[in-house]
Amino acid sequence: MQSQFQGVPTQIAKHDPFTGLWNDSLRVIPCRRDHSYVMWHDDSFTSCLICGFSRWHALMLSAREMSLDMFSNAMQHLRDVNRVDFAGNYPIHFLMTAGVAMDYFFQLYKWPNSSAQNVFGQNPLHVLNPRDLGESLIHFLDWFKTREQPPGLLLTQRDIYGKTPLHTLFQHPLERHLYVKVLKVFPYAEHQLRSLDTSGRPCMQMMYDASLRLKDQNPQDFERMQAGIAEVNGFLSQAAITSTEPPGPKYGFHDIARGARGTSYFGFFQCKICYSGDLHSNSYIDQMKCACANGRDRNAPDESGMTPAHALLTHSRANNNPELTPESPAQIAELLEVLIPRDDPTMREALHVLDPEGHTLVWNAAIRGLDTALAYILSAEEAGRRRAMVNAVGISTTYVDVSHSNTPDPAGGMSSHVPYTHSVPQTTEVSILEAVVIKLRKVREDLKTAEMVGDRRVRRSLATLGNSLLNVRKILIANGAVVAPGPTMKWKIN
Ligand SMILES: [Zn+2]
Ligand SMILES: [Zn+2]
Repeated sequence: MQSQFQGVPTQIAKHDPFTGLWNDSLRVIPCRRDHSYVMWHDDSFTSCLICGFSRWHALMLSAREMSLDMFSNAMQHLRDVNRVDFAGNYPIHFLMTAGVAMDYFFQLYKWPNSSAQNVFGQNPLHVLNPRDLGESLIHFLDWFKTREQPPGLLLTQRDIYGKTPLHTLFQHPLERHLYVKVLKVFPYAEHQLRSLDTSGRPCMQMMYDASLRLKDQNPQDFERMQAGIAEVNGFLSQAAITSTEPPGPKYGFHDIARGARGTSYFGFFQCKICYSGDLHSNSYIDQMKCACANGRDRNAPDESGMTPAHALLTHSRANNNPELTPESPAQIAELLEVLIPRDDPTMREALHVLDPEGHTLVWNAAIRGLDTALAYILSAEEAGRRRAMVNAVGISTTYVDVSHSNTPDPAGGMSSHVPYTHSVPQTTEVSILEAVVIKLRKVREDLKTAEMVGDRRVRRSLATLGNSLLNVRKILIANGAVVAPGPTMKWKIN
């Protein structure tokens, strides 16, 4: 069987096994093994044990070099080979990066497929290279619009960096006349263009950055991208003229998460979302429900790159009573439940978008001892994805004392012979479980000190935090967290 496929010309696809990236776009588990030379017809290659790469994926990556018949026969040849990698990438994800024409997708869709988001939040459209699609790009996008419920879901989903497929598609050069046609296919195109990623960049900035990367390799593509930026700019100006909404960001989830209560005129509350004074109270939960009912974007990062869910967990709010008691962990979980309802699978993407520092929602809940919120976040996602969620890593900053034998003279003169120490920040990658264990140790030390100097309120709040952290640790371990997860453990789903 193998001999009939030998001598097939193969363009080498680009694999970065250290960052875990195919063709500069598709995220995979960084397995540190270069698979760019794997031939789909090499019967001796068995799937990678760390990232799950198989010959199906190698076939998709080389499809552009093959005739349709050969492509179709090859899939038949590989019928018993594993088709999904460990990060949740189906063959369609890999074929999207290959820059092939529409007919190849029709051949692939004769096989069972999935458009689900991988562990990095990418659905297949996030990695679409439109190179050979030409005019059929519009039909192609239209076709995907109806693949999932509600229609258009695949065209609006965000990956872990807050990017939608429109953001990523526009980082490829297109023929000038296609830009506006593409924008007409995407739901909420104007809103998507204005939406930011987790580093706070709008689509046009992403396009500009991508064009600079192309400048030296291909000046023609650079020109196309510049023309695209002009087209998008024109589209946005036109939209602004016809819009009835005032410009600028609207009052919504981010303001509520930061503790805003809306406007109060002479003691009377008027909601800044529905503009009514008597439909609901100014509590965070009522405002939150109102923002949901009025169709505010529940997962859009703000200028600082923070999504509403992260803002809820990382900002402290007080209750509306004379003592201004801080919100309890259960109250925070309740707000989260309104923002990301358990029974709404279309909101699951919001559980995975990172904060500007690269931390997950699970991390932000866990290290703050928000046990109820943590349990809710995990229960709102499918069981097969929970182990990866609790094994994400984050950055921990510790301060290390450095001793010097001489104290330098700030005026630049002779240093005095007085030893001194100063603290230096050190950042390290740590697992969520390890970060929680470190925090727990710190809380216990602080509690010991508080017992000696004896402030009862401080003691009580430290004891409560300690108990919550113990709960957090229990929840993490029950869902498969380990102190030092390897690459497969960190990202494998299903
Ligand atoms: Zn691998
Ligand atoms: Zn309202």
